Amino acid sequence: MKIKMLYVEDDLVDLQAFERLVQKQGLSYDYDVGSSIAETKALLEENKYDIIVSDFQLGDGTALELFDSFGETPFILVTGSGDEDIAVSAMKAGARDYLIKDSDLNYLTVLPVTVENALKHEKDEKRFQMLSHALMDIKDSVFFTDMEDNIIYVNDAFCRTYGYHEEEIVGKEAAVLWGKDIENEYQQSIFPKALRGGLKGEFLHRREDGSLFPVLLSRAVIKDDRKKPIAIAGIVRDITERKLIEQQFQSLAHFDSLTSLPNRTYMMEKLSQLLVQARWNNHTLALLFIDLDHFKKINDTLGHDAGDKMLKDVASRLVECVRDSDTVARMGGDEFMIILPKITKAQDAAVIAQRVIESFDSPFTLNGHDCMIGASIGISQYPTDGDDYESLVKNADIAMYKAKEIGGKNYQFYNPAMNMAAFQQLVLENKLRVAVENKEFVLHYQPQINLKDFRIAGMEALIRWKDPEMEDLIYSGQFIPLAEETGLIIPIGEWVLEEACRQAKRWQDAGFPSMKMSVNISGRQFRQHNMVEQVAETLRITRIDATCLELELTESVLLQTEVTTKVLNDINSLGVQLSIDDFGTGYSSLSYLKKLPIRKLKIDQTFVEGITQDASDREIVKAIISMSHSLNIRVLAEGVETLEQLTFLKESDCDEAQGYLFCRPQPAEDLEKILSKTEKTVFAPLKKGKI
Ligand code: C2E
Ligand code: MG
Ligand code: MG
Repeated sequence: MKIKMLYVEDDLVDLQAFERLVQKQGLSYDYDVGSSIAETKALLEENKYDIIVSDFQLGDGTALELFDSFGETPFILVTGSGDEDIAVSAMKAGARDYLIKDSDLNYLTVLPVTVENALKHEKDEKRFQMLSHALMDIKDSVFFTDMEDNIIYVNDAFCRTYGYHEEEIVGKEAAVLWGKDIENEYQQSIFPKALRGGLKGEFLHRREDGSLFPVLLSRAVIKDDRKKPIAIAGIVRDITERKLIEQQFQSLAHFDSLTSLPNRTYMMEKLSQLLVQARWNNHTLALLFIDLDHFKKINDTLGHDAGDKMLKDVASRLVECVRDSDTVARMGGDEFMIILPKITKAQDAAVIAQRVIESFDSPFTLNGHDCMIGASIGISQYPTDGDDYESLVKNADIAMYKAKEIGGKNYQFYNPAMNMAAFQQLVLENKLRVAVENKEFVLHYQPQINLKDFRIAGMEALIRWKDPEMEDLIYSGQFIPLAEETGLIIPIGEWVLEEACRQAKRWQDAGFPSMKMSVNISGRQFRQHNMVEQVAETLRITRIDATCLELELTESVLLQTEVTTKVLNDINSLGVQLSIDDFGTGYSSLSYLKKLPIRKLKIDQTFVEGITQDASDREIVKAIISMSHSLNIRVLAEGVETLEQLTFLKESDCDEAQGYLFCRPQPAEDLEKILSKTEKTVFAPLKKGKI
């Protein structure tokens, strides 16, 4: 394409030289010549040019008078030598370039290059203007950073979207656009990727006010003509709305529109996820398949609207029966499913199943009628009854049919052995409740012996359950864990504390030498809000001296919270002493021993048992004793059964001991005989002179 040029020149010699140049070099100029101001203006009115080359001095004036008429057309000014000042001001007035005339007409040799450059600049500038207008107008946010990722440019949409003024953000690191928590990730992974070539993805960005929003971000490195990276462009689309729509779709696909519970699809995904976790953490998971008994009758007699209302009510009752971490879903029709992602034993699932069944004991109100409905529940467990979705659901379903066959309104485990175990647990739990109401408990006492003088230093109260249906007493180990789990330990513990204190008082009044009464307190009792008041109140009503009471706690209690520390300090300031039971079996830490008002450690009987066989147990026992003594804490060894153990303990400077070697736990009356017979001090091994 030819360049359309206006050549303004009044000097004929110069003009001819120009024309020769065009011819000689075969320049593709299509030019008009303006030889005066007037003629040039006329030409400009008629024509449009790509470029103007204009001499400064013209016969009827100077080119200055033409500048206005040049308008937007790029022009090059040609001046005589000595007119450089004029050239400079012409540049300021918009000239693209200038040439200085010389007597040899050398300036003409550079004319073609100058024209070419001027046109290229013009083109670049136009393109640049176009782009920057486009950038300013588009809806997407655009930012450019330098190669250190400092922001050097932002467009209007950026300022609107992010809430920054241009001057606030330019100069800052682009990292401020990312949420703080993922800043590192950004620095480490995103930026190098952007440097290498490009990046596109969905991220969370941060607005000036700190709020986060989802974006689709593309970044690309911009290079100059020589392929040197000069900047990184970022184009950001706010996808908040799209995300919202996606979420709505998700919930349509995953939730049941009638009950708003998760549906079968969701359940399938969730269960698969939870199974991965259960496998990873070695947890047991339980699945409850729930089917309403004779639901069809409701639909048939009261109509579908009533049926729908019932399903909704059932859904909310089911949700009430579980914890937040459990999932309740509607599988379709009158079938529901509950996932218990982490259970410790079959009993946990049975408790929930029972709760569901009981939650249906009160009627549903439909169209003003009270309607009853039952539920049949089948339970399957991972890993025993299957390790994938299909087999667990299938087996829960089979178990549910068993429940229906039995007549509905009950639950069945897929594994029949579980039914038995869970049933026994439930029976035991119910019996224990009755026992608490009827106070079917007794305390036995076991002496704690001072190893210096072999006098009785104290008595430990140990609870037994006197079940009227059983001949033998039930030992603590068989029901205390269940009492702790069900919370029944609270009333039981209250009774133990009071009864033990009353017994201490009786012994005191009967003239036996003063002994400490040790009472076991479980963690759950410590978490009661009124533990300190309860202890104070018991001391008051039983009228025993606080220094006669000692509470035994386990290490796990000490690890609990600052609240425990306060409770322990408060109890201690009543004058009551504290000891740690079963020491060595929990998470022993010296730090809490130092911080808490502990008077005594009871070395767990497993270590005492090991004394005769295991060198490391001997070392542990010695270490516990010397460590405790350095902290001014006394040490008692539990479960001492042999002379050999006792000898070692005495040699190791253990302060007290307790165990069958001296005396088994016994009812108070039986102990009284021993107390008076042995003159309150001497025990069999001593009597026989064996120590
Ligand atoms: P513990 O506090 O460590 O009690 C010591 C247990 O060891 C008692 O068992 C006792 O009978 C037994 N024992 C004593 N000397 C020997 C021995 O020489 N050899 C052997 N093999 N065992 C011996 P028990 O009475 O069955 O109590 C078990 C646990 O139940 C107690 O361990 C305690 O943690 C808890 N417990 C008992 N009574 C209560 C209570 O009233 N409240 C609470 N919260 N827990 C209690
Ligand atoms: Mg104890
Ligand atoms: Mg113990």
